Amino acid sequence: MSACPDPLWPSSRAGARLTVDLDAIASNYRYLQNCVGNASCAAVVKADAYGLGIARVAPVLERAGAKDFFVAHVDEGIRLRSVVSKDARITVLHGPRPNAAGACAYYGLRPVLNSIEQIAVWRDAAGQARAPLEAALQVDSGMSRFGLSQADLEALREDEGLMDGLDVSLVMSHLACADTPDHPANPSQKARLLEMSAQLPAAPLSLSASSGIFLGPDYHLDMVRPGAALYGLAPNQNGPNPLAPVVRLQAHILQIRDLLPGEGVGYGLTYRPTMPRRIATVAVGYADGFSRHGAGQGCAWFEDFCLPLLGRVSMDSLIVDISDVPDGKLGPDMMVDLIGPRRSVDDVAAAAGTIGYEVLTSLGHRFHREYVGNGEMP
Ligand SMILES: *Cc1c(COP(=O)(O)O)cnc(C)c1O
Repeated sequence: MSACPDPLWPSSRAGARLTVDLDAIASNYRYLQNCVGNASCAAVVKADAYGLGIARVAPVLERAGAKDFFVAHVDEGIRLRSVVSKDARITVLHGPRPNAAGACAYYGLRPVLNSIEQIAVWRDAAGQARAPLEAALQVDSGMSRFGLSQADLEALREDEGLMDGLDVSLVMSHLACADTPDHPANPSQKARLLEMSAQLPAAPLSLSASSGIFLGPDYHLDMVRPGAALYGLAPNQNGPNPLAPVVRLQAHILQIRDLLPGEGVGYGLTYRPTMPRRIATVAVGYADGFSRHGAGQGCAWFEDFCLPLLGRVSMDSLIVDISDVPDGKLGPDMMVDLIGPRRSVDDVAAAAGTIGYEVLTSLGHRFHREYVGNGEMP
């Protein structure tokens, strides 16, 4: 060990840098709120704000106007409580598991009650608290994932005591096919929500997440719940993406070498050039969330140069072809874009046969993370 500690910050030593543009998140929020007019626009920040860091992202969304936040788990809600104001309403999509109901009530989280069992758990929590507790109710309008069935609604009608002490302030459901605008499930799920909610206490209604917002005003109801669109993902496969990109992933080149025809590259030697190539090893791999399924698909970018991905993705590195870059322009330790202005999160996902949601939530924590902007209006 040298006598002197490294004078530089870990950030300058990291192999890669993930930049999260907080201004873009705020501007996406304002864009979506504007799209839905009088409906209110909540913000979904489950899974650590889709991998981008809830402690940095949620306060920006709150300053941009969000009053309602959705998370999946009670512990995500507890964490969120400490980073937003006490007026922010936090809704827990998975509802109160029996062991989590006490904490849910203590931290002032609103659970989504998805089943008769969850309704009973929350009613008992209200009994213990000796005060009405706020709740959202979810109905299953056709996705068969979460929510009360028609039979459950009938059971509720027969046993009115089940809802004692519950202050129902939202009735919601979730669309299964919103990214396919002409899918018949969309109007059918909306009609089911309206029919089912008519059998429940009157409350504001919510159906749409990101993609549903783009199905038009019929789908906005009283509240929309976007997540993905806030983080710049495209709301559907067709047409231009109106949302601002939020993340950029840049990685350092660790080594450059010249390759002769017939030499093999990476695990399995799956790539062998027929012409001499110049290649670079880059400091991002599948352990950073850059899927092995993306091997050999698409390119990294340096300025306007496409750098095709070669061979398999390793755990900590991948290899790109830099032959098209003029000599001397790109050297060891310089950075290339894996996600950036020329290649979106959705492009990376398509190359790996998955969706942008999975790419974002898989992004690792070995990169230096840099947050730019503060979410204030320009
Ligand atoms: C995740 C989730 C959302 C947000 O979905 P996006 O497609 O990311 O906008 C909204 N509602 C529910 C119930 C969810 O599970």
